[in-house]
Amino acid sequence: NGESSLSITVVGASGDLAKKKIFPALFALFYEGCLPKHFTIFGYARSKMTDEELRKMISGTLTCRIDQRENCEDKIDNFLKKCFYHAGQYNSEADFKQLDAKLKTHEGGRVANRLFYLSIPPNIFIDVARCASSSASSEQGWTRVIVEKPFGRDSASSAELTKGLKQFLAEEQIYRIDHYLGKELVENLSVLRFSNLVFEPLWSRQYIRNVQFLFSEDFGTEGRGGYFDGYGIIRDIMQNHLLQMLAIFAMEPPVSLDAEDIRNEKVKVLRSMRTLNLEDVVIGQYKSHVRGGVRYPGYTDDKTVPPNSITPTFAAAALFIDNARWDGVPFLMKAGKALNNRRTEIRVQFRHVPGNLYKRSFGTDLDQATNELVIRVQPDEAIYLKINNKIPGLGMRLDRSNLNLLYADRYSREIPDAYERLLLDAIEGERRLFIRSDELDAAWAIFTPLLQELETRRVSPELYPYGSRGPVGAHYLAAKYNVRWGDLNVESQV
Ligand code: NAP
Repeated sequence: NGESSLSITVVGASGDLAKKKIFPALFALFYEGCLPKHFTIFGYARSKMTDEELRKMISGTLTCRIDQRENCEDKIDNFLKKCFYHAGQYNSEADFKQLDAKLKTHEGGRVANRLFYLSIPPNIFIDVARCASSSASSEQGWTRVIVEKPFGRDSASSAELTKGLKQFLAEEQIYRIDHYLGKELVENLSVLRFSNLVFEPLWSRQYIRNVQFLFSEDFGTEGRGGYFDGYGIIRDIMQNHLLQMLAIFAMEPPVSLDAEDIRNEKVKVLRSMRTLNLEDVVIGQYKSHVRGGVRYPGYTDDKTVPPNSITPTFAAAALFIDNARWDGVPFLMKAGKALNNRRTEIRVQFRHVPGNLYKRSFGTDLDQATNELVIRVQPDEAIYLKINNKIPGLGMRLDRSNLNLLYADRYSREIPDAYERLLLDAIEGERRLFIRSDELDAAWAIFTPLLQELETRRVSPELYPYGSRGPVGAHYLAAKYNVRWGDLNVESQV
């Protein structure tokens, strides 16, 4: 409605995420014309700041995409004029009342919709939900709250957080963000599957040998390990980002593209998964390494990490979905920091061609002859399919080639940041890419027994050198299921 107004409050506006991601995403939505005519943005945190100081703080991180560079400075100025700041405590209803009064002045008597983005540590989520809902929620329009991970550390703490939030908010008001769901190639997974005849018929145990979800970073915690040390890579990456990609990859076709239909299918597939066993997991932690005269620090060299920490910075796991479509197919995950590259990919390895006439052309290595579909989520977004192909010429020699869709070559548009899509969806009330509480419960149920066992038995991670390919144990885990990690093949890159 053109005459209603939208107020967005970024709670924790003085923090890193707000500066790096949220304000730049709001700015992009502004210049793309995605925000309503009447909107106001408020930063809220305890730090004392004037409106001008907030504007100065965020202006440094605002940029225009290539196709929007014209008059970029003006766009920034116009955007900053709509940004304000209110300092207050997170548990003070009185402070939120003051915020409410300021919001009302800007809303100018229009029907006001209000979005709160909780970019704060999770221990204060519930305080803010309480204060915002009692003292600053919209009287006539909608009120929605975006929450950032972590959503607890295990099933029990997650359930407690959900219960706490639901004391003050209805489930429909809670938007749990997993920014991987806002990534272009993750959105595209369903398009690839459900709108191309050539993929969906192959999407089952009959044709797929295994599926791999891979996440690697080529840097460590670099002095910011305090938060990470309390969670570890399994909670930080696997239980949410990789598992969400897996759920979308493996779900049954939804009845429609409606949020509830999609989320129903995701819950179903998650609930069909086996709880993860320690025998199906390898954990690692990076240690210091000297290369080319440069010493790269180990995880426990990080001053914000306890020196005896056994928190995993790497994990590999084999998961299984016990349903008709996926029975017996290993879904392998691998995630690590301080590895030899930075990448997020899904790799689908197809079965061997039965009675392959050309098998001998490849020697005995059948692995090299199977088709593999790679969906590279970041960086360099790409989809490619490895096929066997005849090398042109008079003889009969085969090689492996890629049918290749490199986004940078095909699409000239810069890809919007995941936060833009998700913020826009929250504004429009589109919940498809946000995590419902029963999904979250199902996700924690898969990982919680393992996480508890790792902690009670104080399982030591296998050390791997900074910048390496990770612990060798990951290789044996895959081998146990007759799988070779796709990212380790020399010829695997485009
Ligand atoms: P942050 O900088 O540590 O915290 C944001 C703001 O919260 C701070 O500026 C501070 O504001 C307030 N705050 C910090 N610690 C507090 C405490 N113990 N008690 C009360 N207030 C406190 O966090 P962030 O990196 O911006 O991330 C925000 C949220 O997003 C966190 O939940 C984080 O786990 C999650 N997250 C972050 C990233 C990322 O890239 N940074 C990625 C994914 C998820 P005042 O002191 O001014 O009140």
